[in-house]
Amino acid sequence: MNKIDELQKLIDSANRIVFFGGAGVSTESGIKDFRSKDGLYQLHSKYGCPYEQMLSHTYFFENTDTFYKFYREMMINTNAKPNDAHKYLAKLEKSKNVTIITQNIDGLHQEAGSINVLEIHGSIHRNSCLDCHEHFSLEDILKLDNVPRCPKCGGLIKPDVTLYEEQLDIGVLNEAIYQLSHADLLIIAGTSLSVYPASGLVNYFRGSNIVVINKEPLNVRSNNLLEINEPVGKVFGQLHI
Ligand code: ZN
Repeated sequence: MNKIDELQKLIDSANRIVFFGGAGVSTESGIKDFRSKDGLYQLHSKYGCPYEQMLSHTYFFENTDTFYKFYREMMINTNAKPNDAHKYLAKLEKSKNVTIITQNIDGLHQEAGSINVLEIHGSIHRNSCLDCHEHFSLEDILKLDNVPRCPKCGGLIKPDVTLYEEQLDIGVLNEAIYQLSHADLLIIAGTSLSVYPASGLVNYFRGSNIVVINKEPLNVRSNNLLEINEPVGKVFGQLHI
C-alpha cells in the first residue's frame, strides 16, 4: 500500500482526529515562512536583527515602527488563500470529530470553513487597543497608519499574536491538551516541532497512530508512525472524504 492510501485508511478509521500544523501548512498558500532559509536571509539583510528579537514583547514597545514594518511585510499576506490541506480539513470536520491546533496566525483554516481551530500563537485577524481594549479586524489595521492607533482613544493597537517573552493563552493550551489526550489519530504537518510549545504538546497524545507530513524528516518516536516527506497541500489534495 502506498503512503497516501495508508493515510486515507487511517483517517477513514479514526473517530477523533487532531491535526497539529505549523508554517509548512501555509507555505503553499503563499504565506512566507520567515524561519526558512530564504525568509531569514531576507529578514537579516533588511532588518539586521534575528526574528526572535523582532517578534519579542520588548521590541514591540521599544521599536514599534520597525516592528510594524516587519509585521506588515512578513506576517500579513492578504492574497493568501486556503490550499488543499485547509480545504480538506474543513470538509472532514463535517463528518468527523476534528480539532486543528495551529501555530499559524493567518486564519486560513477558518477561511476554508473549519470551526474547531485552536490558534496557540494567536491571529492576525484579532487586534486590540492597549488602552480601551476595543477590538479591530485585520481590515481595520490595513486602513490605519503603519503604527495603528485606536480611532476612539488614540491608544496603541497590538495584534493578538503571541510574541516572544509573552505567555501563551492558557485556555487555548488546556483545550489543546484535552483534545490531544482524547484523540485516536494525530497528524503533525508542516512543523519541525522545534518551536515552543509544539514538541511538549504532542507528548499529550495517547492514541495509537501518528502521521507526520513534513518536507524534512522529523525525529518523532512512535510504534505506529507514518511519515510522508511531501508538501502538506499536495498530500491532502490526493485524499478523499
Ligand atoms: Zn482605544
